[in-house]
Amino acid sequence: MRIYKVGGAVRDRLLGIAVTDIDRVVVGATTEEMLAKGFRPVGADFPVFLHPKTGEEYALARTERKSGRGYGGFTFHASPDVTLEEDLIRRDLTINAMAEDDEQNLTDPYHGQRDLEARILRHVSPAFAEDPLRVLRVARFAARYAELGFTVATETLKLMRQLSESGELQALTAERSWKEISRALMENQPQVFIEVLRACGALKVLMPEVDALFGVPQPAIHHPEIDTGAHTLSVLQQAAHHKQPLTVRWACLLHDLGKGLTPEEQWPRHIAHESKGLKLIKAVNERFKAPRDCQELALLVGEYHTHGHRALELKASTLLELLQSFDVFRRPQRFEEFLAACEMDARGRKGLEERSYPQADYLRGAATAARSVAVQPLLEQGFKGPELGEAIKRERLKALKAYKEASS
Ligand code: ATP
Ligand code: MG
Repeated sequence: MRIYKVGGAVRDRLLGIAVTDIDRVVVGATTEEMLAKGFRPVGADFPVFLHPKTGEEYALARTERKSGRGYGGFTFHASPDVTLEEDLIRRDLTINAMAEDDEQNLTDPYHGQRDLEARILRHVSPAFAEDPLRVLRVARFAARYAELGFTVATETLKLMRQLSESGELQALTAERSWKEISRALMENQPQVFIEVLRACGALKVLMPEVDALFGVPQPAIHHPEIDTGAHTLSVLQQAAHHKQPLTVRWACLLHDLGKGLTPEEQWPRHIAHESKGLKLIKAVNERFKAPRDCQELALLVGEYHTHGHRALELKASTLLELLQSFDVFRRPQRFEEFLAACEMDARGRKGLEERSYPQADYLRGAATAARSVAVQPLLEQGFKGPELGEAIKRERLKALKAYKEASS
């Protein structure tokens, strides 16, 4: 049997990037031989094994053929007579279809190295169209390597467009899509992921609510960039620039969905877009079965981001309602993420990227003021049950009024 490194490990070594996970392909071996050597089989789907000592992945060379819709509709053929070249041709991009042996001898039948040098993401063969997930993968790699100057080959974009228009994208499971989306959002240039999906028509299929924001104007006085789609991309870019977690990035992407619903006669104003957008945010959340913390933050940011921007004008009672909506006394971290998302929203405006966001500190101070109300003295005064709740609320309101006065 012969063993080669493949995929990301080869690509990233040639790019001079640190290699994190190493995938290997094994040519000329049977499952029985692998098991006899102590490899542990993983997953029921493919002939993949873990090394007995290192735990790294070793896959038997295989060919694949599409036999139906979606990813379930794949049959594969793994046997000792499958060659390295046959295994490499089923892969998505030429830069992912190179292999090297222990002496770093490169096997590169589909010219991955040439495309690496030309900074091009190009599909290996027409079989690319057999798995719609590749549309998302290519967009993710475009986001990851945008800083190195990579772009998607014209013919590949064309195939991605065909896949998007064919209805195949709908066959993707929420789990597979979310895995790609969440990884793409954590790249340094996540807005490129959305741009590429839009360029091939996949955004309209996967997230029509986001796609609808392009071409929708906002008032130039608050939004010099005017276009709501362009704004959303900038907010996402700011979130990456400021190293925000996935929850914040997801909320940034979805915060303005309501603006896509505004009747044209009302443009460029977007009255009540915050509350109108909630049902759209919920729909996107559920479509991809986003994790609970991502779902929650996206809804809260959607509903309250304008409160964040107007923080200094809010009445004490509105401040208290805001803090209570966030359950800030028990969930301080989530409130911090809300403040971060609001700040990214404010910075995601053309020419205003460096402007400070005093609203965040002001709201932190308000939370501290409300939190400083002690419950013990109220208990000692004999309050209990719903009356205790009311008394705490009254005291918090008093504290917020004092805070507002002290800050003005
Ligand atoms: P990363 O750095 O994100 O791990 P990678 O290229 O190693 O990048 P993996 O998901 O680990 O990506 O997959 C390893 C290799 O398997 C890829 O380089 C590619 O050759 C192939 N591959 C993975 N998923 C697909 C797919 N859906 N279609 C075609 N080839 C794929
Ligand atoms: Mg990998």
